[in-house]
Amino acid sequence: HAPLAEVDPEIADVLQRELDRQRGYLEMIASENFVPVSVLQSQGSVLTNKYAEGYPGRRYYGGCEVVDVAEELAIARAKSLFGAEFANVQPHSGASANAAVLHAIARPGDTILGLALDQGGHLTHGMKINFSGRLYDIVAYGVDPETSVIDMAEVRRLAVEHRPKVIIAGWSAYPRQLDFAAFRAIADEVGALLWVDMAHFAGLVAAGVHPNPVPHAHVVSSTVHKTIGGPRSGFILTNDPEIAKKINSAVFPGQQGGPLMHVIAAKATAFKLAATPEFRERQERTLRGAHLIAERLSQPEVADAGITVRSGGTDVHLVLVDLRDAAIDGKQAEDLLHEIRITVNRNSVPDDPRPPMVTSGLRIGTPALATRGFGDAEFAEVADVIALALLPDPDVEALRARVAALADRFPLYPDLVQ
Ligand code: PLP
Repeated sequence: HAPLAEVDPEIADVLQRELDRQRGYLEMIASENFVPVSVLQSQGSVLTNKYAEGYPGRRYYGGCEVVDVAEELAIARAKSLFGAEFANVQPHSGASANAAVLHAIARPGDTILGLALDQGGHLTHGMKINFSGRLYDIVAYGVDPETSVIDMAEVRRLAVEHRPKVIIAGWSAYPRQLDFAAFRAIADEVGALLWVDMAHFAGLVAAGVHPNPVPHAHVVSSTVHKTIGGPRSGFILTNDPEIAKKINSAVFPGQQGGPLMHVIAAKATAFKLAATPEFRERQERTLRGAHLIAERLSQPEVADAGITVRSGGTDVHLVLVDLRDAAIDGKQAEDLLHEIRITVNRNSVPDDPRPPMVTSGLRIGTPALATRGFGDAEFAEVADVIALALLPDPDVEALRARVAALADRFPLYPDLVQ
């Protein structure tokens, strides 16, 4: 019964210091967010004690009648939020959701067409040493070198040439919306299945501020912890009853053992919140914030320093900054922003001359700050701070003070005691 601080003061200290870090820094990693206290409650609950292999009403363990309710709620809410006929809410993460999708709709050795990692794709879309790259025969498309936008003619050309079993539409670092109908037309033309990985933009879809891939794709996978702002985890949707059966068996027993019922309960809450007008308003602020950052980083003084915004702007929650012609590289820029207490991640740009641990790009996202309460004025302020930090000879002290003022105005988890 002893509290954590007594049982394990070292870990208690980690929790406290991490809470302090999250409060004191401005979180602009595009894939991160802050979960509401209600979600923290489920994740720190006794549901973590329960084994529930199987699906609601069809478990391999006794005593599942209570946790079944949580999973049924999560499924019903996911289906309603995204207009899907079927949802599997058991994947532990986005990567395990993706492994289950491929397990369900392809066989090892099949050809898969996806966006290359260095062009904005995800590891699970065919990176060489990821399971996807090892088990499947990967063909990758990229972005147009001039526009930084995916060239659908190139996707079609590769699809016609390689006749993939699966075409993946989805990204981790891409600032534009995808044309799901065009992807589906190509998939139909070559007899492929279309899998959309909406891990990044699912919150925008839920809010209705981004096109919904569900009506176009054979299967859709997602995380819950990025723009949705729920617990760290994944889920899978489809409208096809045959694929639905295969997905269920690919997740369990194909990929996973016991589902994380505490996380599934937290997903149910996150999906409930994502259907509210407040959530929509937050996603709108997220989009406007990204737009304001792209605009500030496109001004002439920034361009003169060799810093550009890839694709010339954004229609989602992130901005990709190209530093190939700048005085600083991705690692230096990330470190510099960290020094003034803004957290971002460096990111390879297409045809990056620098190695992945250095890179020539930055990925800057707005979901976490929108959750924290930022509106247009605050995003404009943070955009100015970022621009000045990246330009030569930044006044680090002054910029850090501006960041601290913003962080102080939007207290994070004000009543939380770890
Ligand atoms: N899919 C995409 C497009 C992603 O960006 C990510 C995470 O970065 C994932 C899947 C994997 O999610 P997770 O980190 O939960 O495994």
